[in-house]
Amino acid sequence: MNNPGNSLYSEIEWIGKNGFDFIDITTELPGVDIEKINVGKVKSLLKKYKLGVVGHTAWYHAFRDPQRLVREAATKVLKKEIQFLGRVGSKNANVHLMPLYRFFSVKDGIKFYSDVLKEASKFARKLGMVMMVEHIAGSRSQFDLLQGLFKKVPDLKFHLDVGHANLETKGNKTKEFLRKFSKKLEHIHMSDNDGTDDQHLPLGAGNINWKGIVNLLKKYKYDGTITLEIFSKKSHLINSKNKFKKLWKSVR
Ligand SMILES: [Zn+2]
Repeated sequence: MNNPGNSLYSEIEWIGKNGFDFIDITTELPGVDIEKINVGKVKSLLKKYKLGVVGHTAWYHAFRDPQRLVREAATKVLKKEIQFLGRVGSKNANVHLMPLYRFFSVKDGIKFYSDVLKEASKFARKLGMVMMVEHIAGSRSQFDLLQGLFKKVPDLKFHLDVGHANLETKGNKTKEFLRKFSKKLEHIHMSDNDGTDDQHLPLGAGNINWKGIVNLLKKYKYDGTITLEIFSKKSHLINSKNKFKKLWKSVR
């Protein structure tokens, strides 16, 4: 994934030169300003390095806001991001399921997010794309929210984040997420942490059992894209890539 603190062009160059198959483009400021970005330049860099694209929209939009007008404004921005991602070759785009504000129930959350996601999915479908929903932490309400959203927005896909499944929980919840939503699974994020915070550490630097995770993914015959969402030194990212490839090959 491009580091949103840097220019997208230089991030594509680095990712392309270092042997990755695709880039997970996050349309986050300050690195990616969709009002100003040069789509042609992005496309030609992706072509130069033969990189595929996975779509990641800005996590900070106010989709959980109780005010309808605020959610509508956020949806407008989201559509622009989806359009940009489609133009540079992505077939999907995610939305993050943030914790709800106090005094609001899971039912309220399903209403807020499904309003946004129904509209976004319709828009994405016209561009030949699908929307995915990424869970943020492993708490019980996230399962209920996801379940409700998949019911209300049938073509919505699931975006698993193994690092997030390690938060607010005893033990990693990847197994539970897969048991409930494996049929909807579209894309996966991986990074390590010690369970206290979303630290985006290299694989092996936190307490996640990566061999166990790979075993699970093989059990479900997952054959899709995986992003290493690691925001420390670039050399750590390369080490994690090599380590993961080795692990993937070693597990049958
Ligand atoms: Zn993620």
